[in-house]
Amino acid sequence: MHDFVIRNALLVDGLGSAPARGDLGVSGGKIVEVGKAKESYREAVDADGLALMPGIIDNHTHYDAQLTWDPLASPSPALGVTTAIIGNCGFTIAPCRPADRELIMRNLTQVEGMALEVLRAGTRWGFETVPEFFDMLERQGVALNVAGFVGHSSVRTYVMGEDAPRRAATPAEVAKMKEIVLDGVRSGAVGFATSTSGNHNGYGGIPMPSRLADEAELRELTGCLAEAGRGVFMLTKGSHTSISFLEDIAANCGRPVIVAALLHNNVSPRATFDELQAIAAANARGRRMLGAVSCCPLTMDFTLHSPYVFEGLKAWKPALSLKGEAYKALLKKKTFRDEVRNEIAAPSAGVRLFNGEWDKVYAGLRTIEDLAREAGKDPLDTLLDLALSENLDTEFSALLLNSDEDAVGRMLRDPNSLVSLSDAGAHLTLFNDAGFGLHLLGHWVRKLGILSLEEAVRRLTSHPATVFGIPGRGKLEKGSFADLMLFDPATVDRGPKRRVQDLPGGGMRLITPPVGVHGVWVNGVKVAGEKGMAKLDRMPGRVLREFDS
Ligand SMILES: [Zn+2]
Repeated sequence: MHDFVIRNALLVDGLGSAPARGDLGVSGGKIVEVGKAKESYREAVDADGLALMPGIIDNHTHYDAQLTWDPLASPSPALGVTTAIIGNCGFTIAPCRPADRELIMRNLTQVEGMALEVLRAGTRWGFETVPEFFDMLERQGVALNVAGFVGHSSVRTYVMGEDAPRRAATPAEVAKMKEIVLDGVRSGAVGFATSTSGNHNGYGGIPMPSRLADEAELRELTGCLAEAGRGVFMLTKGSHTSISFLEDIAANCGRPVIVAALLHNNVSPRATFDELQAIAAANARGRRMLGAVSCCPLTMDFTLHSPYVFEGLKAWKPALSLKGEAYKALLKKKTFRDEVRNEIAAPSAGVRLFNGEWDKVYAGLRTIEDLAREAGKDPLDTLLDLALSENLDTEFSALLLNSDEDAVGRMLRDPNSLVSLSDAGAHLTLFNDAGFGLHLLGHWVRKLGILSLEEAVRRLTSHPATVFGIPGRGKLEKGSFADLMLFDPATVDRGPKRRVQDLPGGGMRLITPPVGVHGVWVNGVKVAGEKGMAKLDRMPGRVLREFDS
């Protein structure tokens, strides 16, 4: 007798086949039948025409710290995510010596928008090395499957200590880093992740350590993937990192290279397409490269207490280390404002979050452009004066990037793109795109018809599974793991964002509820139903440590 069967579903297999009516049987955490069920089962669910797909693989999350206090990785499983890849951009919490814990947490507060009180109250530090971190997650249990990168910034801090964000590494230091990366990949990391992005600053505005790496260091460390014969290299790219350099790396290590973050920018609308084209040309020469794109408009809610939106600007740098009255005094200064204004007005070579689109920055229901015109003032002055008059508590909401649906649609369909960049677990008060998969199905498939249902499902499931070498997942096939999502294609979506105060120590974050999701299973165990997360007697997820070479 097998475990359960879902009958009469519209099966979307994850491989891109046309959806077809049928049943799907599960036993021992695996799919035992697809099509017409002939075996006998202890339990049967009538899907009544709802669609059944493989669970979503979210390949860009930052759940590293959260998983140590929240094995559910809330809110992802309820949003259909059955596998999460952590440690993106290289911002991991392992390896970490006890003496560096505070530093790692402080950096995460700045670079990933996590509150320090939350991290201090929540993070459990029962590990020092990368393998020990995976072992700890395994012992503690996880609700969904988790695969983790070795993170460059943490490796650098481990080897170089306080110098990590300050200088290039010596050959001896690089050699030590290589040992850690190799050990991490051999003990079950999914690859190696780094960032050269100017948006990535640590505590007090100091660059994240990986930004100090020279090209030789990047070549050496990615060489570990060639040596191990497995793993993916992911990089969040700064403006000075060229696709041709990354192609070189891809050629040297022979491994897939994921280039983030290709977010469309209305002010330089060609940039992401030029990059996709360069990636296509590299692939034509035999590389395996993908541009990480997002199906969500990048919107951020912020106050001037922590304006991530501006913090990547060079001219904003002096503000990063200031607090209280000194910070307010700087915000009032004309020279500071002029420099910020000039930088925003100049063209940007790389991904810049804010590009002077004041008509897309809201204070309440009014745009800053409107308010500025009305007051006969410059928009930056308008925003800063408004915030200063309200003790910096004014809440702004900015639609920053990826808002041109025609352009984003073309990027989502590009064969050289990877649907990615949810950033789940990070930027907790700024935005929450953990429901990106539901948004792809609701917005881009149903409302806009830009992607077919089967292609969208493929891009959320077997495509990332293949790229990351995750065996036995991302497809509805006999013998595969029973990671599943049952949903209604006529209503599926993510609901409106709302604020909840559920983090350790009472921290706030934004979440979006699922819409049209009827069931989510991880390794054959139901983790969520129509009313959200199910009660779990045990954690059904696995820490994935074996990958295809
Ligand atoms: Zn990231």
